[in-house]
This record gives sequence, C-alpha cells and structure tokens, in this order.
Amino acid sequence: MRRRKKGTKALIFLFAALLAGIGAYIYTSEDFEREAPQILIEKKIFWNMKKPIGITLKDNLGISSYKITMNDGKNEEVIYEQKLQKPLKMVTVEVDAPPGFTFEKKKAILDIEVNDASRWNYFRGNESQKRVYVIIDRKKPNQYVISNSYKITRGGSAAVIFKATDENLKSVYIKTNFGKKFIPQPFYKEGYYISLVAWPVNERNFRAYVVSEDMAGNVSKTYIRYFLQDKRYKKVKMRLKKSFLEGKVEDLASEYPETAKMGPLEKFKFINETLRNKNEERIHEITSKVSHDMIDDFEIEPFYPLKNSAPKGSFGEYRIYTYNGKTVSRSYHLGLDLASVKRAPIIASNGGECVYSDYNGIYGNMPIISHGLGLYTLYAHCSSVLISKGDEVAAKEVVAKTGSTGLVLGDHLHFGVLVQGVEVMPREWMDKKWIKLNITDVIKDARKMIDMEEEE
Ligand SMILES: [Zn+2]
Repeated sequence: MRRRKKGTKALIFLFAALLAGIGAYIYTSEDFEREAPQILIEKKIFWNMKKPIGITLKDNLGISSYKITMNDGKNEEVIYEQKLQKPLKMVTVEVDAPPGFTFEKKKAILDIEVNDASRWNYFRGNESQKRVYVIIDRKKPNQYVISNSYKITRGGSAAVIFKATDENLKSVYIKTNFGKKFIPQPFYKEGYYISLVAWPVNERNFRAYVVSEDMAGNVSKTYIRYFLQDKRYKKVKMRLKKSFLEGKVEDLASEYPETAKMGPLEKFKFINETLRNKNEERIHEITSKVSHDMIDDFEIEPFYPLKNSAPKGSFGEYRIYTYNGKTVSRSYHLGLDLASVKRAPIIASNGGECVYSDYNGIYGNMPIISHGLGLYTLYAHCSSVLISKGDEVAAKEVVAKTGSTGLVLGDHLHFGVLVQGVEVMPREWMDKKWIKLNITDVIKDARKMIDMEEEE
C-alpha cells in the first residue's frame, strides 16, 4: 500500500513537471514568442507621388506574411499579399499608386497587416495591423522675394523679406553656398518672413536662396538677387615680443594644463588657434539663435559703444604673427578694436537681452547682447561687466568697462557684431545711412507691398 501510494505521487509529480516543462518551453521558446511585428511608418503621412511610399516591417523572429491595401475613396486595391517561404526579420516594401487611382479627394488610406512566424496564438502567429492616412500633396510651396537690401559686401550684412506659403509647410530657411542656413523670422502678416544674412569674411563668393519645403517633400528655391561687392581685407604682420610671450601668453597658457610642456611659441600657437577656435565656437553657438515670434519692425540705432575712441584694429584683418622673422601663427580678427581711456564705460546703443556674461578665454570678460532678428553684439577684454545673463538691457545703458583681459596688450574694447553666428563688419551697423538704406527702408518697402497685396 505504502509503496503504491508513493508510486502514484511520483507519477503525478512527474506529469505535473512535464506539463510545467512544456508550458515553460512554449513560454520561453523562440518558436512561441509573443512579440508582435512592427510596422514602421507614421500614422499620417504626406506624399507628393514622386517616390514610392516606403514601409518597413520588422519582427524579432521573422515575418511570415503581409498584406497591404490602398483605398483612395473611389477604388480599393490589394497592393501586396505575400506569404514568405522563409521568414524574414525585416521586409521593406515600396508602395506606388496603382493604375486607375485618381486621388480626387487628395487622400488615401493604407491598411497594413503583418504576421510573424511564431507558433503562438494556436500556430497563427502574432499579428499587427496599422491604418495609415495619406495626404496627397503635389504642389510646391509658393514663394517669392518681396524686398531685399540692394547689395551685400564681403564681410557684411543684408536683409531679405519674402513670402512662403503652403498647405503643409514644414520649413523655411535661407540656404547659402558656404553651408550656413539662416533662419527667418515671421514678419508682419501670416506667410511673410524676414531674415538678416551675412557674407563671412573668409568666403570668396556669396549666393543665397530662399528655400521652403512642405511635409510631402516638395521644395521651392528662389535666388536672392544682391549686388555683390567684394572687399579686400588687410594682411597685417604682427611681430611677437618676448615680453608678450613671457607675460600675457604665459599667463593665459597656465590656465590650460595641456600646454605645460610646450615652448613659448607653441603656447602662443595653442592660444591663438586651438583656444581661439574653442572660444569662437562658443560665441557662434550663443549667437546662432533666432526667435520664432512674429515681428512688425526692426528699429536699430547706429552702434557707438565707446565715446571719443580711436580705432586700433580693423575687422577682417588677416593677422600673421611672426617671431624673429618666422611665421608662428595666423588668424582672422573678427571685430573692431577701439581704444579710449583705461576702464572707459562701454555703452549698448541698442537695447536687448544679455545672453552671455562671463570669461571666454582669449576674449577675456565678455558680455553678449541679443538685439533680435539674429543680431548680436559682443564686447570683449572688459575689466568689469555690469550686466548678467538674462538681464534686459536698455538702449544707452553702460554695460561694462574696457580692460585688457584675454589675449591683448593694452586696455581696449574689441567690439564684435554677429548675424546668426557669423561675425560681420561692425562699421555697417555703426553707420546711420547704411542702416537706413539696407535695413529700415527694406522693411518699410516690404510692409507697403504686403499691405497692397493683402488689399487685392
Ligand atoms: Zn580685437
């Protein structure tokens, strides 16, 4: 008796263990996995019918079959109905318009069904379904230039105002021949945009185009006609002095441990090139931002940051540094140097927002002010800065005192102007006539034309 009972128990235990084992096998085996296939496409897409619609199907075990149906409100057609002999982990299909489809309603529906090779679900596998709404858009954005500055000078700035409209507008920007994209800001009335553009001092040529793209990939591109004025910039030889290398250069280098084993000329090269690049990258990053808010106007007064000052170094100079007759390093000087008395007050001629106020390597203590429309001014080598990041700056406010922090010899102001991260000639923005002709009048003209257009 005892023995038999023991035997039954063992049998039941064995049977239970077997069931659990099968269960565990089904539950953990790849053959019975429960992960549904993925259908990689957005739920709503825009299609210009130039290229087929790409759909990617993915499954961890393998796709065994799929079916794709298109319906344009009038016709319905099964575009794909495939059973795969050998399951595939990834399948990409391209859907084109079937013949006879007219897309009169400029809409279509794609129904996608996919099964994987799993034995789960009583061997039917896991199924995924997705309905995709397709909006047919074959029309390019409508765009044209309303007005622009007559000319642009190498190293200088210009303005452009244009219209760009589309039912499904995605992005609007200004493309240039040197890879920089300028981002326009909405202007005055819906569908209009304004942007400042800049011709970098080290670029031989300048070409700019208004580009707008819609959600379906239709693109419009319009050349902006500027009269191009080339300008030659000075090459200036700067003789390095031993006292400068041992003083200022040594001081600056001591902040960077990687220069510890360098000789004095190597240290200068490091500061004038490696550190300069780093410092200028930071400036470009801070000054690249543009607001997306609509603006009606852009009133700007000529900049006059330092009273009774004398120019010491001009914008765009190509400086060649020599020591004992040998060239040590080269760099572009990307601001205007002005000198007055020591610790002279620096005035922000236009209001704005302080977006940076800190020490920045060779530029020393340096505040940057954003004046809107992607226009920024910076004031380098200050002995003290009176504004902080986030401060609203009033026009005519004293923002800092000149000094000799950073890579400089004597007390002076390095005045920099930037348009969306590109250094430009400060002289233009200090010139009342230039501002009127190239900025203010362009805006005035554009507003008149827009008003006339809207009345029609
Ligand atoms: Zn300078």
